[in-house]
Amino acid sequence: MAAVAQPRPPQDRKPVLISKIDSFQDVVNTAVIIPKEDGVISVSQDRTVRVWLKRDSGQYWPSIYHTMPAPCSCMSFNPETRRLSVGMDNGVVSEFTVSEDYNKMTLARSYQAHQGAVTVVLFVLEMEWVISTGQDKSFTWHCSESGHQLGVYRTAAWHILCISINKLFVRFDVETRHAFVGEHSGQVTILKLEQDNCSLVTTFKGHTGNVTALCWDPVQRVLFSGSTDHSIIMWDIGGRKGTAIELQGHNDKIQGLCYAPSTRQLISCSADGKIVVWNMDVKRQETPEWLDSDSCQKCQQPFFWNFKQMWDSKKIGLRQHHCRKCGQAVCGKCSSQRSTIPLMGFEFAVRVCDECHKSITDEERAPTATFHDSKHTIAYVHYEPTRSWLLTSGMDRVIKVWVYTHTHTQIN
Ligand SMILES: [Zn+2]
Ligand SMILES: [Zn+2]
Repeated sequence: MAAVAQPRPPQDRKPVLISKIDSFQDVVNTAVIIPKEDGVISVSQDRTVRVWLKRDSGQYWPSIYHTMPAPCSCMSFNPETRRLSVGMDNGVVSEFTVSEDYNKMTLARSYQAHQGAVTVVLFVLEMEWVISTGQDKSFTWHCSESGHQLGVYRTAAWHILCISINKLFVRFDVETRHAFVGEHSGQVTILKLEQDNCSLVTTFKGHTGNVTALCWDPVQRVLFSGSTDHSIIMWDIGGRKGTAIELQGHNDKIQGLCYAPSTRQLISCSADGKIVVWNMDVKRQETPEWLDSDSCQKCQQPFFWNFKQMWDSKKIGLRQHHCRKCGQAVCGKCSSQRSTIPLMGFEFAVRVCDECHKSITDEERAPTATFHDSKHTIAYVHYEPTRSWLLTSGMDRVIKVWVYTHTHTQIN
């Protein structure tokens, strides 16, 4: 009997560990996979910039080992031009060109971009800009050809907004020259950059903790933000309807977000080492606003602050809860059930009222994400879409390279 070819569900795929690199003296702050090469570039707190190439033995060996004057906090690599921009703890950004065989790197220029540690550096080829943010709470961009500073953003309003900022995370949308800056306060700020000035477009807030990761999907025009509050928010900027969908699938702070446009998957990593791969092909709904009521909207029993009804009916006041599906204010007894609601972003079981619990079908309960364990505390994550490779670097000073594949695939 001929086997019927079934399309494989995404649950069939998972990250399979293919390599480990573990000879660092300190944490690797950023590492990226070199597309089309069997190579990795790393910058570390141990002040080294290293390029690793896979040898015949299957092991990664450094083809470049370069020591910088200060710990390296961040890096950006452009594969087309092989330009490598390294940000350091002393506020300096250094730009290198890596040779075609990845055996040599040549310094092009260095400049003092910030007064404190550089937190993010980003090279934008289309504009020849090197964008960086620093612990000095400034956002600056330099011309990568001349090394001249083109602009800096540090207005009075910025200071008020960012009074508690110690880390900024930024992503850049080339087409419209908008920069998204995630802040310590939980806000995301959108800046519009011109050649030599920039203006504040808007700020929005949805997180209750610091924004720790941002990822922009230029096709769908959706921004993903991750936070120390364990949640991810998907901001539909292109749709212009103000939709913001929360994704709940982590139990620790979000450390990295990557988007795979070809498979429409969002990959998120949290500090506890968990990797969640979200299927973004499904249509999710926003969670309802929580309704206010002085009594349970199911059984009409008064909540504890409703003294009058408590007195009149000689009832004991109850604590108010909210059904995550319908948003109604309900008592504990009327919301004793828990359910996942993946189409609202809840991959974990949450409180629902008894009525909603009955109405949720098994199909609606089916997970829309897969959960994996990297088995190290993730500090940084990078996804290389052409081969579906994933890189995680950990607080344990180890880089792990994974291939995201069907579980039965043999890796050589
Ligand atoms: Zn009730
Ligand atoms: Zn309900």
